[in-house]
Amino acid sequence: MTKIEEFQALGLTEVTIEAIREKGFEKPSPIQVLTIPALLKNENDIIAQSQTGTGKTAAFGLPILEQIKREKTAPQALILVPTRELAIQVTEELISLNKKKVSIAAIYGGASMSEQLRRIKKGLDIVVGTPGRILDHIRRETIDFSLLKWLVLDEADEMLNMGFIDDVEEIMSASNETKRTMLFSATMPRRIVSLSKKYMRDTKILKVESKQITADLTDQIYFEVKESNKFDALTRIIDVESEFYGIVFCRTKVGVDEVVSKLLDMGYAAEGLHGDVSQAQREKILRKFKKKTVNILVATDVAARGIDVNNLTHVINYSLPQDTEFYVHRIGRTGRAGNQGTAITFISNSEFRQFTLMKKEVKTEIRKEKLPTAQDVIAIKRNKIKEDLLEVLSGDSVIENYTTMAREILAEYPAEQAMAGLLKLAFKNDLEEGNYPEIRTFSVDRKGTSRLFIAVGRVDGYTQAKLVELLKRETGLNDSKIDDVKILDNFSFVTVPYIEAEAVAKKLNKLSKGNKPLVEIAKDKRGGGNDD
Ligand code: ADP
Ligand code: MG
Repeated sequence: MTKIEEFQALGLTEVTIEAIREKGFEKPSPIQVLTIPALLKNENDIIAQSQTGTGKTAAFGLPILEQIKREKTAPQALILVPTRELAIQVTEELISLNKKKVSIAAIYGGASMSEQLRRIKKGLDIVVGTPGRILDHIRRETIDFSLLKWLVLDEADEMLNMGFIDDVEEIMSASNETKRTMLFSATMPRRIVSLSKKYMRDTKILKVESKQITADLTDQIYFEVKESNKFDALTRIIDVESEFYGIVFCRTKVGVDEVVSKLLDMGYAAEGLHGDVSQAQREKILRKFKKKTVNILVATDVAARGIDVNNLTHVINYSLPQDTEFYVHRIGRTGRAGNQGTAITFISNSEFRQFTLMKKEVKTEIRKEKLPTAQDVIAIKRNKIKEDLLEVLSGDSVIENYTTMAREILAEYPAEQAMAGLLKLAFKNDLEEGNYPEIRTFSVDRKGTSRLFIAVGRVDGYTQAKLVELLKRETGLNDSKIDDVKILDNFSFVTVPYIEAEAVAKKLNKLSKGNKPLVEIAKDKRGGGNDD
């Protein structure tokens, strides 16, 4: 059986096969193998789960296009998606497979209502829309879903995350009763299961285990780095790569903003994406990233969802994701479409325990490696400068503007000295070891760490350095055991080895002399801490 016949074997017929051939798909993806026959049978409602980038759009799109009739009256299929960007993406994917020339339109918020009304009046077969705007049309009775045969909730988890649950429920109950509902999602939180119990019948669950997909094409490594060294570790990794085109994942919006602003300060081409970035801004940023005018995208898990970029060289887990599923999800963004990619995870002391569990669940090897040293980075930068120089020299006439000046300098200094001086002038920040912050190697404490809450902060005159000094003086801890110091206005946080936490707290609380205790050991809030 040639590979395209595998599509035929799933039950698709010639028109659809022709569309697939033109589109260039060679064989069905695992989720398509599961969903296409099930959807062609038209018996059950379906929940389908598979990682991002595995072809879920065609997984519901192909069987719908196979069965739909070109009528251009009231829509037979409605596909709900969380964002305008996804509405456009899904619509484009469906149009690219639309041999039957059925009428497909995207209907989302922010676009002109009158234009949409015109499209609807002309008659539609498939509508791809965002919940808010679709509900708008339902309430105004400007669109008729009484003939609906298929309702698809695409990126259902994301739709719930973004607070569309009520809208989605209202649409589910407003459309006709004989339709089939299909829910597609990359993750399967409990809320989705309860939604399906409420509104779906004879539901069949089809799931592709994410392990199958990530294992082979992504090289996974990790570094043990103190929280306070993570940024320097990041720039080293970027600097030693001849080409870096990647996403840096942070757990929180604040984390994203911090990393982006530091990268920009240092002259890297970076942009950040998180829940507070407007849709228009988001699209602009993604365009720049796709064109590679920006080669570093810093993002939260939620904001990175639905980004359709295939050729990333790196995914960096600047902080660990909330759970293993997100990890698999993140790293699945490299190694797509046959490209080898690298997934790098930074592990600070406080992340070690969670990481150990995660490693067990992922079931593929994650190698521990050593960070590039300052000398490594400098050697690479030297080479790069030489290459760039060669390019200028072998290039064009622009260099003529500089020859007079060169002659003047060379009249006064020997060539070697003059050249060395120029290099220093131009590149001393890059080429001198003293400019690279020391990243102390440390091994993680296998018993884990505790987070201490300290009842003094900026208003009490504390800075990071001052708090570290207090800790060292009063508790005898050394630098390597103190990590992730955060000073806020009225209080501070610091991470210390789990086995020392009690003793540290005791010693510091003695200082408060019977007043409110100075230190509390914070509750273990692993898995929380996401402000997105
Ligand atoms: P998901 O919704 O699971 O994140 P998409 O439907 O957006 O994934 O598909 C990701 C990419 O994979 C798209 O560019 C799509 O055209 C492509 N794709 C889908 N199915 C196949 C297939 N069978 N063979 C090759 N490429 C495919
Ligand atoms: Mg999708």
